[in-house]
Amino acid sequence: MSCRFLNCGFMTSPGRTAAAPDTEVVGENMYQLIKDLYPICRSITGNGVRATLKRIAQQIPITVHEVPSGTRVFDWVVPSEWNIDDAYVITPTGEKIAEFKKHNLHVLNYSIPVHKKVLLGELKQHLYTLPEHPDWIPYRTSYYKENWGFCLSDTQLQSLPDGEYEVFIDSRLEPGHLSYGELFIPGESETEVLFSCHICHPSLCNDNLSGIALTTHLAEYLAKRKLRYSYRFLFIPGTIGSITWLALNEQRAKKIGHGLVVTCVGDGGPFSYKKSRRGTAEIDRAVLHILRHTREGFREIEFYPYGYDERQYCSPGFNLAVGSLSRSSHGQFPEYHTSADNLDLVQPQYLKESFATYLDVIDVLENNRTYINQNPKCEPQLGKRGLYSSIGAPAGSGVREMALLWVLNLSDGEHDLLSIAERSGEPFHEIDKAAEALRQSKLLEEAG
Ligand SMILES: [Zn+2]
Repeated sequence: MSCRFLNCGFMTSPGRTAAAPDTEVVGENMYQLIKDLYPICRSITGNGVRATLKRIAQQIPITVHEVPSGTRVFDWVVPSEWNIDDAYVITPTGEKIAEFKKHNLHVLNYSIPVHKKVLLGELKQHLYTLPEHPDWIPYRTSYYKENWGFCLSDTQLQSLPDGEYEVFIDSRLEPGHLSYGELFIPGESETEVLFSCHICHPSLCNDNLSGIALTTHLAEYLAKRKLRYSYRFLFIPGTIGSITWLALNEQRAKKIGHGLVVTCVGDGGPFSYKKSRRGTAEIDRAVLHILRHTREGFREIEFYPYGYDERQYCSPGFNLAVGSLSRSSHGQFPEYHTSADNLDLVQPQYLKESFATYLDVIDVLENNRTYINQNPKCEPQLGKRGLYSSIGAPAGSGVREMALLWVLNLSDGEHDLLSIAERSGEPFHEIDKAAEALRQSKLLEEAG
């Protein structure tokens, strides 16, 4: 079956009646969202972020927050807002190069305005290239140090003649706001699952847009379901956005029980999971369980204090159970932070697989409960309850007998279903299905 999570417990659990999504369609829709957002010049603040949030809001009902420049957020200050209309360089022969309107990576992101004539030697101090990939444009930023600059292919740099150049950057760096989007979907429990993605990169697909697309479609899907947990979705500029949200929502953050930073989910690389700082949180166990059972060659990465916004969620003052599930990971693919992270690098097929994997993880979180065997003295007789047929073959219920026996044996109030799945080697959805059959036969009751 191409849509593998159609088999998962999430789809069959009571009370969860929304139809399973057609992942082919979701993959295509995610890609279309990426195409819509690709041309926009985003940064950590400014109208590009607002345009991005506006497009997301066409699909899901996010609230857009505007935090004024100068707001203190822990050790940081919300910076001035940056906007840009145009930028280019004119060569001594009159050729216009590094045109912002042709590719927004050409301008150093957060460049201050400039309009002057400079000699090649001075210009070169403001040019950024990638000699190891001479035809790609690098992505460079200068958020917290005022500077101006251009990014271009190394091939073009090497062809520049001596002489006088006109540089022009029509940007504005002035007091304004930091914008971010937020959506909260309440569930039965106040405990929250956080999905956080960054929205601050300009025309870059895997690092940035794929995370936005997956988070948006996940929210759209979950909004139609009956949920055990509450879900919070954040569309924020990297680093300063998560710091700002945490500073403004310190109490609310305590309700986050599980979380993932969503990025780099659109390329064809093997799945990677960077664990939370805690390392053995339920989210860590849930993601690794799903990857072990569904994704060959995945990479398990210990927490380190660099990368994306998990750095802030996992800072010691919060220490939230937030990991990051991606395909290629932060900085680990050649196209990272270059013009080659484009609409060819990400594909609907990969997006679809990532979406399915996220749903599988949510399925584990939603259904992972701890039970107590109501007949713990020797095995209950399963045959008379229609739960046991010949060894090795599924009983009429479609429940695996080994899964039943494991659930009965380990349901002592100490083991949740995920730990039973881990110890038995059975996939979680089989353990969950067995638990549900036993619960219906009154052989299990939820602990507590
Ligand atoms: Zn990045």
